[in-house]
Amino acid sequence: MNETYDAVVVGGGAAGLAGALTLARARRSVLVVDAGEPRNARAGHVHNFLTRECTSPTELLEIGRAEVSRYGGEFVTARVEGATREDDGFVVVLDDRRRVRARRLLVATGLVDELPDLPGLAEWWGRGVLHCPYCHGWEVRDRRVGVLATSPFALQQAELWRQWSPNVLLLLHGVPRPTDEEAERLAARGIAVVPGPAAAVEVANDTLTGVRLASGEVVPLDVIVVVSRLTARSTLLKQLGLKPVDVEVGGHVIGSQVPADPNGATAVPGVWVAGNVADVRAQVLTAAASGLTAAAAINADLVAADTRDAVVEHRRQMQTLLDEAAWEERYRSQPAVWSGNPNPQLVAEAAGLTPGRALDVGSGEGADAIWLAERGWRVTAVDVSATALARGAAHAEEVGAEVASRIEWLRADLREHPLAEEAYDLVSSQYLHLPGDARRALFARLAAAVAPGGTLLVVGHDPSDLWMTSHRMHFPELMFTAEEVAACLDPARWRVLVAETRPRAKVDSEGRDSTYRDAVLVARRTG
Ligand SMILES: Cc1cc2nc3c(=O)[nH]c(=O)nc-3n(C[C@H](O)[C@H](O)[C@H](O)COP(=O)(O)OP(=O)(O)OC[C@H]3O[C@@H](n4cnc5c(N)ncnc54)[C@H](O)[C@@H]3O)c2cc1C
Repeated sequence: MNETYDAVVVGGGAAGLAGALTLARARRSVLVVDAGEPRNARAGHVHNFLTRECTSPTELLEIGRAEVSRYGGEFVTARVEGATREDDGFVVVLDDRRRVRARRLLVATGLVDELPDLPGLAEWWGRGVLHCPYCHGWEVRDRRVGVLATSPFALQQAELWRQWSPNVLLLLHGVPRPTDEEAERLAARGIAVVPGPAAAVEVANDTLTGVRLASGEVVPLDVIVVVSRLTARSTLLKQLGLKPVDVEVGGHVIGSQVPADPNGATAVPGVWVAGNVADVRAQVLTAAASGLTAAAAINADLVAADTRDAVVEHRRQMQTLLDEAAWEERYRSQPAVWSGNPNPQLVAEAAGLTPGRALDVGSGEGADAIWLAERGWRVTAVDVSATALARGAAHAEEVGAEVASRIEWLRADLREHPLAEEAYDLVSSQYLHLPGDARRALFARLAAAVAPGGTLLVVGHDPSDLWMTSHRMHFPELMFTAEEVAACLDPARWRVLVAETRPRAKVDSEGRDSTYRDAVLVARRTG
């Protein structure tokens, strides 16, 4: 509960669970907070849910929870009492005083069916007292159905229920008699109009048997149909600044819902809605579908946010790679950054060269410079880090005074430091990575520093490394091919001996055998 979830889903009915499933399968951390009062709890079965026809509401939700759990979704049985915005997300407060953090909220709190005030109705809700012919019509087909008319909308309901049963009555309960035109329609469908008002639900042997009128007369019925007012459970959403709006059918207000776009996004950034709270007409299947849609939109929003954050971090890391102080810090923070072995492409390409003057560019802790000096080269080892150079100098002393005397350690940033032209018989740049223009400018100056007859050796991480290996460095803008470097050399003054992508076996940072691909350029200065 201490972590920040990618999403907290408030309400674990069909909409919330479908949203949680989609989010969990999208590898998002998701917590479902559910108070355990789904709207259809009183119904025996769920109907019109393709492939799950006639499943009990409890069983359907159990299956849903198991599916969400399978992908790592978590559950808490509690009521969400409030949520406040914090940074880019929310702090969600539960009724047991626990708090959870969420980057995004999916509110699927459903609606409340507000029943007409008639003794006995609430007790029989979902059994003998029904509201929706699509949910129950088939099961009570041809039975005696009394539509309790508490609003003018009841006339439409009576006509609708007539599709399922020829025995439909309209019980007037606080509404005027139908107009002549309405009475004609009802008569045409064989729907009798019973003057009210009703006084109570009649029950015998634990079975609903009818409605007792205020007059004392009893109307025998198997089913009472009510027009419940469908009120969005929107307390939490109101706290977040969202107001429900009335829903009208045929000019009659039937309830309220919280406005959202087709993907469930509300006017409050970071808050999505799904199911009955956003659509009073949603059935279980469509509530679930809206949960899926909203969850996909939430994931897309998080992907966009993750990418924005990643770009900031990428730029920071890039800056670190190019920054003098950052390199110094990197060397200072650990006793050794590099292996102490000379770079393999230097060994491969310089072993056969006649020693002379060498420039080791980006010398780090000096392994290449020492290797060259051991072979008789007089080396200028250049790096931006004083710590790295000091380590190199110390290692050289350990190897021997003669080797040490052949190396000059120079702290400089070669992007700015002047370089003598035609001064070196070997210029070696091993894994020095700069962005495009800066790289081309530096390599041109390195090439100019090579004396006639001398060798330019440039080695770097080839861009194909990114798609060939599990790579530790992902800065395509810093990588280059040997061909790219070769193309910048004047053919009148250079002979390119090697320009290739060369595989190099290496155990990666996670201990796996990997093959890295180096860009290797070897060019001889001819003029
Ligand atoms: C009697 C009856 C029978 C029905 N039969 C059918 C049928 O056969 N077929 C069909 O398709 N549809 C049927 N429906 C409609 C069906 O119930 C809804 O379409 C469906 O429940 C909507 O799903 P939902 O996820 O939006 O909301 P709900 O299923 O109502 O789930 C909302 C959940 O949110 C929780 N919650 C609310 N507020 C909070 C809070 N602050 N903190 C934490 N949790 C909270 C609730 O406890 C609840 O568990 C029936 C409805 C009724 C009333």
